[in-house]
Amino acid sequence: MVKRIAILGSTGSIGKNAIRVIETLGPAYQIVALTAHSNIQLLAEQVRRYKPRFVAVTKKDCVEELRDLLGDSDVEILAGSEGLTEIAGLAEIDIVLAAVVGSAGLSPALAAAKCGKHLAIANKESLVIAGDLLMKTARENNSAVVPVDSEHSAIFQAMQAGKRNEIDRLILTASGGPFRTLSAEDMQTVTLEQALAHPIWSMGAKITIDSATMANKAFELIEARWLFDIPVGRIDILVHPESIIHSLVQFVDGSLIAQLGWPDMCLPIQYALTYPERVAGIATPVKLEQIGRLTFERPNMEKFRALSLGYDVAQAGGTMPAVFNAANEAAVEEFLAGRIKFVNIVELIEHCLNKHNKINKAGLDDILEADAWARKEVARKLKRPVNVKIL
Ligand code: NAD
Ligand code: MG
Repeated sequence: MVKRIAILGSTGSIGKNAIRVIETLGPAYQIVALTAHSNIQLLAEQVRRYKPRFVAVTKKDCVEELRDLLGDSDVEILAGSEGLTEIAGLAEIDIVLAAVVGSAGLSPALAAAKCGKHLAIANKESLVIAGDLLMKTARENNSAVVPVDSEHSAIFQAMQAGKRNEIDRLILTASGGPFRTLSAEDMQTVTLEQALAHPIWSMGAKITIDSATMANKAFELIEARWLFDIPVGRIDILVHPESIIHSLVQFVDGSLIAQLGWPDMCLPIQYALTYPERVAGIATPVKLEQIGRLTFERPNMEKFRALSLGYDVAQAGGTMPAVFNAANEAAVEEFLAGRIKFVNIVELIEHCLNKHNKINKAGLDDILEADAWARKEVARKLKRPVNVKIL
């Protein structure tokens, strides 16, 4: 049977790779819906080429531009974040690929889980801020949540080598980002250009900065905690600069099971779409003799303070992960706009975490409020106009 796919965030790095993957998978996988925030030119090109039945533009003032570009196309155009969420729950969709960036991805991910969709999830922020709720919703509605993030895809695959109660530890690998070998002092003066130059992975701007601060690995720790229901105390982070081993599972008998591949998101995207099947497709297998040697080191938690904050926040739970994530989103936006220094990002996160009144048994409303509060707090601290949209 043909699998009908919605790509949420089709103009992004994951979205574009997903389209390449779906092209190589052939007619058994069909693109039925596409969404984007503001890159309307590219979205219009994608609509003309792949002819989805539905399209959503989340930035409402861009909808008219899309209508103009598409002329008399019979695609149904939805608008705003409501449109995105509506698409995630449509009866015409079997697989939702959640590839939106940021906590804006939570509402559509929840809608897909509620409607029992096969949810291929790249949007880690939704798992960071509301992983408990999202996984519970998925379990209750028989929605399969399959990770796209390369480390989590690796763990998901390696876990199949044993039973759940035979798992001892999860080991998340990290490239270490562009500043792995830099001194703490030199990190004070790095530029936006340097932070955007990831040595291994080609990704969207926000996650590239998150990789440079290593907040990305802190997010992945919390992501793994919820995806696999393993306490954070049993999840380790290991720096592996070549990024060939995408992560590992250690079983109680001492066996370490790893998944290896080139650092290319197409393979984890493909596996998340075709799971539980494996198919020949876009990836070329790693040739270990070409690589020669793989190296590993402990992460430097002092230099990359986001990592130790990540462990604290993961242990603290409640609304703390939402604050960590939203403060980071707001601070990264400021950094990308050239208005703050690289080191200010983690300082702003820490400021918000220290100031936040944590709610322990946090429901969705508490999480959304904490998200909005942290964004406002970053704006206040930087003396910017406080103009925050509640999710
Ligand atoms: P990106 O910035 O390249 O693309 C983001 C997409 O989301 C775009 O299509 C954009 O139109 C859409 N978008 C932006 N703001 C939005 C909003 N407010 N509401 C709705 N849609 C919005 O990002 P990316 O690098 O493709 O990452 C997407 C997600 O996947 C992130 O959560 C990221 O952490 C995760 N991820 C990415 C990679 C990677 O290789 N790029 C790897 C692992 C995980
Ligand atoms: Mg990752």
